[in-house]
Amino acid sequence: MHPDDSISPSALSPVTTLSLRSGKDRPVRLGHPWIFSGAIRDLDPALPPGSVVRIAAADGAILGVGYVNPRCPIAVRMLSRHDEPIDGAFVARRVGAAIALRANVVSAKSDAYRLINGEGDGLAGVVVDRYADVLVLQTLTAGAERLKPLLVGALTAQWAPRAIVERSEGAVRGAEGLAPASGVLAGEGVTEVLVRENGLAFTILPGGAQKTGHYCDQRVNRAYVRRLAGGRRVLDAFAYSGGFAVHAGAGGAAHVVAVDSSAGVIAAAERNWALNGLAPERARFLAADAGRFLRDTDDRFDLLVIDPPALVKQRKDLPRGSRAYKDINLWALRCARPGALLLTFTCSQHVDAGLFRQIVSGAAADAGRSLALLRSLGPGPDHPVALAHPEAEYLHGLLLHVE
Ligand code: SAH
Repeated sequence: MHPDDSISPSALSPVTTLSLRSGKDRPVRLGHPWIFSGAIRDLDPALPPGSVVRIAAADGAILGVGYVNPRCPIAVRMLSRHDEPIDGAFVARRVGAAIALRANVVSAKSDAYRLINGEGDGLAGVVVDRYADVLVLQTLTAGAERLKPLLVGALTAQWAPRAIVERSEGAVRGAEGLAPASGVLAGEGVTEVLVRENGLAFTILPGGAQKTGHYCDQRVNRAYVRRLAGGRRVLDAFAYSGGFAVHAGAGGAAHVVAVDSSAGVIAAAERNWALNGLAPERARFLAADAGRFLRDTDDRFDLLVIDPPALVKQRKDLPRGSRAYKDINLWALRCARPGALLLTFTCSQHVDAGLFRQIVSGAAADAGRSLALLRSLGPGPDHPVALAHPEAEYLHGLLLHVE
């Protein structure tokens, strides 16, 4: 019999030991945190989603503990390589390690960053972003959902936030059988928060608008744009709240155009520009389709940032999504002055770095422009990824010199 789903989460003891099929232990031993259902011998479909389980190799050697959801292709996500209890002390250790890492790798000039990055911090399915004194928590899986009270406890004890706000949603949750969840988990309800990113000011609505309120993953690339922008005409396409635009402005850009299809976020971008004391005549903020803007405009730019939403949401969308990435980069190249710099990104999990490079090369060929790769770009060190877990690397960018 399996324990009741509503069991007190203060200690989540393993309900059973799952054995892997012969030869399927190698990725787990290397530190890959996912176990696909096909790798497990006799997976009981009645195991309550989110139950903690012990994992054993075919020869019986215990490989660690994780949590299971028998209805998902990723049936188990590992939490520990040791046979240890998943309890308040365990979660407190993981949270403490995550906080200590950020203290080492995030400069004091930023108080908006990712505090817990799921599997990369040994807390599969858990994301926490910090916005000044407010934390936004996202749980993506049934197992992470069960950890929620322990997470709130550990974060409150070690961080003392003004509030912990939840923003749990997305396709993964749906596949796990979970409805979206949002609201205040601890502390007071919050409206807007003023944060610093690379020393610049932004207002963020924690848990509001998109993602957890801000795209923390581009923080290091925004700092880079600030260094490159001096004297240039800059395009920030898919601008959201103007992270790249404001950094370009602060870096001395001659002029900045920021485009986003959402009128609400582009208004926030304009407010963030003003908040940093940047002159209004040095920028234009447009609520428009970025593709249409690029096709129609006579403007020419010498620094272009192309940061679209995930255009490949599922593997089956790869052909169509690849085409969309190619088109947007082709149109961007047509607006690039000779000698321009192009920073182009994909945040689609199914588009890896090699494929993205191929797509952008195709766009360059069609545009009749030669591109030189100056640097490969990715998220900052507040987004750790287990070395054996390349699937967690979703953000790939290229810094290119346009001939
Ligand atoms: N560069 C941003 C993050 C971009 S997220 C940053 O640094 O914070 C992707 C953005 O693209 C979202 O703000 C979304 O509103 C916008 N978007 C989606 N489809 C669009 C389209 N067709 N044209 C312009 N913007 C679009």
